[in-house]
Amino acid sequence: MIEVRNLVKKYGNHLAVDHLDFTIEAGRIYGFLGPNGAGKSTTMNIMTGYLGATEGEVLIDGHDILKEPEEAKRHIGYLPEQPPLYMDMTVREYLEFAAELKRIPRSKREESITEVEKLVKIHDVEERLIKNLSKGYRQRVGLAQAVLGFPEIIILDEPSVGLDPKQIIEIRELIRKLSKKHTVILSSHILAEVREVCDHILIISKGRLVASDTPENLEKMLGDADTVEIEAHADPSEIRAVLKHVPGIEQVTVASGEDGVTLAKIREKRGEDIRERIFQAFAARDIPLLTLRLEHVSLEDVFMELTQKDTVPDAFSRRKKKDGDEAKREEEDENAGNL
Ligand code: ADP
Ligand code: MG
Repeated sequence: MIEVRNLVKKYGNHLAVDHLDFTIEAGRIYGFLGPNGAGKSTTMNIMTGYLGATEGEVLIDGHDILKEPEEAKRHIGYLPEQPPLYMDMTVREYLEFAAELKRIPRSKREESITEVEKLVKIHDVEERLIKNLSKGYRQRVGLAQAVLGFPEIIILDEPSVGLDPKQIIEIRELIRKLSKKHTVILSSHILAEVREVCDHILIISKGRLVASDTPENLEKMLGDADTVEIEAHADPSEIRAVLKHVPGIEQVTVASGEDGVTLAKIREKRGEDIRERIFQAFAARDIPLLTLRLEHVSLEDVFMELTQKDTVPDAFSRRKKKDGDEAKREEEDENAGNL
């Protein structure tokens, strides 16, 4: 349905989208997940033909969005991050204007508009000026504009930003309803939201695609293995050397702490419990472990790790960032908790 090939977008020297490649299949709900600045809006703007790419191509049902924009755009309804609303129009006038832009035949306009107004529950405010509507209602008007004409693909950029919890639930229900007949792509910087509604998650970080799978598989593949955290008085290289001979380890991250203490985060292979082996390995080398703790890795952790890779390599960041005193106090608290 949509093919994105080798997509690159540069703003001056800044690489906002870095060689993105993915395919969107019909009839599913896709979530672009990534922190602010990851490149989600830029990607959506390119996919919908609002912005040119520096390199690469986007095919909508086989039509190149740049070479055949009319044909390609006919398949898409788009709610941008800042919906282009005209404050001095009434809701109805605005949707009539949108229907004209979308070339919905005159004979069908009335019926189409009323249908989407009812769907997003703005029928009773259709005579109100947009400037007098609350943020939640304006968002719905933007959504109505995207859905108008019922295009095959509906793209929504952060559809629930600025909404209250009740409105968020309503939007989710609406998205689920739409997905029965449409392909929906939405973006969000909130993992819980994407996990809740999407069949497929594309995690984007610094313009790159760092993961693409169903929420269940992401959780299984990346989040289901437990992690053992240890601390010892030894160099990072010594710690690595000891761990090298312990079977059942998937991955090791080490970081130097204060006073010659090294922290290591050890991801187990699935189904292994390596705590005793680690204890024995360090004991055999005469290196006493100061702590040894099992941590369950959640999808949240995976998301944080994937999207913050080159700022902080592991989960010890919190402690390292703190000033000496505060860090010591936290350490003391943790020790107290372990007794
Ligand atoms: P997201 O939607 O994931 O928050 P954006 O696509 O808005 O990310 O932005 C990606 C990166 O590109 C950010 O670093 C942002 O500052 C930059 N950026 C976005 N739009 C522009 C622009 N018009 N000019 C220059 N830089 C931009
Ligand atoms: Mg954005």
